[in-house]
Amino acid sequence: MVVSWAIGWKLTKSIRDWGSAAWRRGKQIATLEERITKLEALLNGPHPPDVCKACGQRGVRQYKTEVSGTGNHIVQHWRCALCAYEEIRLGYPS
Ligand SMILES: [Zn+2]
Repeated sequence: MVVSWAIGWKLTKSIRDWGSAAWRRGKQIATLEERITKLEALLNGPHPPDVCKACGQRGVRQYKTEVSGTGNHIVQHWRCALCAYEEIRLGYPS
């Protein structure tokens, strides 16, 4: 009788552990699905702004492009809509 109680206790503990692990996995999956939904919403909308080097928020967008005076570079003008930080990025024509 003592042996059967021990086996029953171990079996009960195993079932509880399995249930607890399954609940944690379910919660992880729900969290991942929520994160994926947010990322998909970002991808389906307009391209998100770049991160501003001055204020750290996503507010930097390009507002003007021109060719440099020498014609060797593309000059991009970027501005943060949140703090008005501006920067110039140089690129090479492809
Ligand atoms: Zn900014």
